Amino acid sequence: MLSLKSVSKRYKTGDLALKEVTLEIPEGQVMALIGPSGAGKSTLIRCINRLVDPTEGVITLDGEVISSLSARGLRKARRRMGMIFQEYALVERLTVMENVLSGRLGYVGFWRSWFRKYPAADVQEAFRLLDRVGLKHMADKRADELSGGQRQRVGIARALIQDPALLLVDEPTASLDPKTSRQIMRLICELCEERHLSAIINIHDVLLAQMFAKRVVGLQLGEIVYDGPPDGLGPDV
Ligand code: ADP
Ligand code: ADP
Repeated sequence: MLSLKSVSKRYKTGDLALKEVTLEIPEGQVMALIGPSGAGKSTLIRCINRLVDPTEGVITLDGEVISSLSARGLRKARRRMGMIFQEYALVERLTVMENVLSGRLGYVGFWRSWFRKYPAADVQEAFRLLDRVGLKHMADKRADELSGGQRQRVGIARALIQDPALLLVDEPTASLDPKTSRQIMRLICELCEERHLSAIINIHDVLLAQMFAKRVVGLQLGEIVYDGPPDGLGPDV
């Protein structure tokens, strides 16, 4: 379970991006985080994976206090957080299979095996995941040969092969057309359900959030202004 208690973030520029945000996400729950640009959605995700340090408050994941971990502890904790990005963050010159494997082996481990041989069990698991996201037949294609939707499927497989406890998903559909966006959101939510995974999906498209998430949290100027089922959102959000 993920918990945030009175988490605030003030950037050095003086911007108060989060104001005493308190949230709990039980195991297996998918939460969509919505709000206009500048509301603090990315900051919230970055406080959880500690790309930024919260100014105040406590963040715990399965009982471990994330917000005060040392660099070493943080490296371990991050292995339990799968990340999915807006611009996919694939290594363009590597194959689909290699991109997925890099999620399992980590950066150093990946290059070490690149010169020798990838562990067979990891390759097998990567194939299983590629099959699940509909890309098994493209394992040997280079990432730069794929469409946006296919790239995001690779990003999803790469996050899942880590076997994370939590998925942090930052605007996964912002670079995709509406139909592909729906497919990608559906895939992420289905996979979370299958694997009993918690997820925060940062998404500014309210309709997409309503379509797929059972819980929606609305942020505005760094504060939670809504937390509940998607159908409780007023027409003016
Ligand atoms: P958005 O979430 O609105 O699409 P991003 O968060 O992706 O924007 O912003 C892109 C980059 O610019 C990030 O590295 C972010 O930390 C940084 N950034 C955003 N707003 C500011 C700001 N006011 N001052 C300095 N850097 C900023
Ligand atoms: P969102 O993801 O909802 O668009 P952000 O978390 O990117 O919102 O931004 C929240 C606020 O924090 C904005 O006012 C933004 O300008 C500011 N901000 C974001 N990143 C930085 C940064 N690296 N340095 C300074 N201010 C930032």
